[in-house]
Amino acid sequence: MNDNNIANTKDNKTCPYHNKCGGCQYTGMPYDRQLAAKQEKIRNLLGSFGKIDPVIGMEEPYHYRNKVHGVVCTDKKGNGYTGIYQAGSHRVVKVEGCLIEDRRADQIMHSVTGLMKSFKMKAYNEDTGYGFLRHILIRTGRQTGQILLVLVTASPVFPSRNHFVKAIRKLHPEITSIVQNVNDRSTSMILGEKQKVLFGKGYIEDILCGKRFRISPKSFYQVNPLQTEILYNKALEFAGLTGKETVIDAYSGIGTIGMIASDQAKEVISVELNGDAVRDARLGARQNNIRNIRFYQADAGEFMVAMAARKEQADVVFMDPPRAGSDRKFLDSLIRLKPGKVVYVSCNPETLKRDLSYLTAHGYRAGKIQPVDMFPMTEHVESVVKLTRAGL
Ligand code: SAH
Repeated sequence: MNDNNIANTKDNKTCPYHNKCGGCQYTGMPYDRQLAAKQEKIRNLLGSFGKIDPVIGMEEPYHYRNKVHGVVCTDKKGNGYTGIYQAGSHRVVKVEGCLIEDRRADQIMHSVTGLMKSFKMKAYNEDTGYGFLRHILIRTGRQTGQILLVLVTASPVFPSRNHFVKAIRKLHPEITSIVQNVNDRSTSMILGEKQKVLFGKGYIEDILCGKRFRISPKSFYQVNPLQTEILYNKALEFAGLTGKETVIDAYSGIGTIGMIASDQAKEVISVELNGDAVRDARLGARQNNIRNIRFYQADAGEFMVAMAARKEQADVVFMDPPRAGSDRKFLDSLIRLKPGKVVYVSCNPETLKRDLSYLTAHGYRAGKIQPVDMFPMTEHVESVVKLTRAGL
């Protein structure tokens, strides 16, 4: 590990909620030890596939999370507060501040709950089904400074809505948009189907690798934008594009990797399941004036099966599946499509190992493996792997 990767060794902050929350497994552990543990985990799981470069850590591994969520509660006196579900349960632990969350978001969350009593607004109670405000979700744009506040309510009827919006905007003029999301189901999902923009555009924008992205409440966006740029630059370096390639960006979210790669490719085909994310991607491409990219809303596996059946060609495939990894359908079609290079971005080394075993048994060779610490204080680690078709 080089010196760049070791930061904050003296400054290992402790968190008062550590034992109850369960979100961060490594708080209190010096950051260099956290990185060493992640390196070791990746080495154990993936060492047999290829060379593992030193994990890229953060200079300042705190307050990086751009997406902040709180479960809303009211105490006996009617004061609102937010907390998080205790790991593995539905008990809420009151949280007044978090070491990894964006500080601006934490302050806004406090202010929202601080207004509840004077507005006679009750927190929703999961057991009785009584009450109004369920969750607060805040998304921040690191480079643009934009802030989206999402108020998740149990019913669409929002008493004193305009006054509430006015009051919170007065306290936080930095908020650029407010959305009411209605979740009237008894579910562990935070966001419901229906949404109403109460103020601003209904989404935020952020800039990564020089491109501007649009992020709606339900679209996936990496939680640590500083490290995301490092991750994407590595993915692009592994792809080694020359401007002539047909590129697939699978599990593309709001189209970040594909749009960033588009300058160096002939054309990009992006596929993503979430309709809101695809909409963000299409509008983002237009805003960035990118013309050589197409977006499809589909299951990535089924999309690849159809591409392989039509005998279409792709030179490079970026794949960035969710924690569960990819599926057989996707991997079998990838093998049939025979792209010269596959760049696999993964937030779960266990499923990455499983998928790499399959791909390396079917004509691919893993090259470099680059772990990136996207989630300091937690045990999670992101990796990007370069795969080439054997014989190329
Ligand atoms: N590459 C993007 C998103 C990665 S997260 C980025 O870096 O921001 C994984 C994405 O896969 C999410 O947007 C999720 O909605 C999407 N997804 C999950 N299952 C999928 C499937 N079966 N087919 C296509 N996309 C899927």
